[in-house]
Amino acid sequence: MKVVAGVDIGGTSTQVALCTEDLTVVDRLEVPTPATAGGGAMVGAALDAVRLLLDRADARLLGVGVGAAGVVDTRDGRILVASDSFRDWAGFAVTAAFQEALGVPAFLDNDVNAFLRGEATAGAVAGEPDVLGMTLGTGVGGALWLDGALYGGPHGAAGEIGHIPGFGDLPCTCGGRGHLETLASGRSIAARYGERTGRELSAREVAEASDPDALAVYEDAGAAVARALLVTVGLLDVTTVVIGGGVSRAWTLLEPSILRALATEPPVSGHPVRVVPSLLGGDAVAVGAAARVRAELGV
Ligand SMILES: [Zn+2]
Repeated sequence: MKVVAGVDIGGTSTQVALCTEDLTVVDRLEVPTPATAGGGAMVGAALDAVRLLLDRADARLLGVGVGAAGVVDTRDGRILVASDSFRDWAGFAVTAAFQEALGVPAFLDNDVNAFLRGEATAGAVAGEPDVLGMTLGTGVGGALWLDGALYGGPHGAAGEIGHIPGFGDLPCTCGGRGHLETLASGRSIAARYGERTGRELSAREVAEASDPDALAVYEDAGAAVARALLVTVGLLDVTTVVIGGGVSRAWTLLEPSILRALATEPPVSGHPVRVVPSLLGGDAVAVGAAARVRAELGV
């Protein structure tokens, strides 16, 4: 069996998925990310997982795709800007390390871009030519798939929807104020719930609590997401949206306020907007990274 490996290097865990040439996941493994031990250790942990999966599947590896948070150089396969939680990661030559260790081609993408490539290739919006992708995780990420390809923009930051202003006046993690992320990220949902109730719960626990304060916080998050996507729809005429990340697992809490906003403020084009949750879930980034390999190698 010939396989492509997709690697999703997150702040706390690294997911590795082995995919067939048609991007079916045949096996997967999740290992802790040794983020404080540096780039070499992080790639080492991912390599161990890839090798273990290859042994288990008795498969031949065609290539490796990696999705990582932060600003990345997709041509050079190098991390450009990483968050403080990663040690010795900015500047790390990721694809060179994978290629050297495994002897196959390797490619690097930003994790939100990989998420969208995964969903647009083999997930909730497979085959759609134009899609806005949003990830509601610890932070809020965005990506654009236009005319069947990722659109990075002149500085590689297209679709960065989490840090656009116009969403109130709360301080944002980036130092700005009133960004979408202050209402719609997992961290913000927990903080907004804490302000109302004095209780310290995670976004997931807030969703499970489902009390009036929890519903109100998720309602605000959904309404903010809807406003951001309506701006994008109006600007680009992209009417398909896929939403992933941990917060999107509380879809039944988010969806009503999103649908309400779409009903009250439909795009002027009159085209209906379709908003769907991620289908690939925790596999999305890894499958998207594997899809890049398939596209590059033409397998
Ligand atoms: Zn911000």
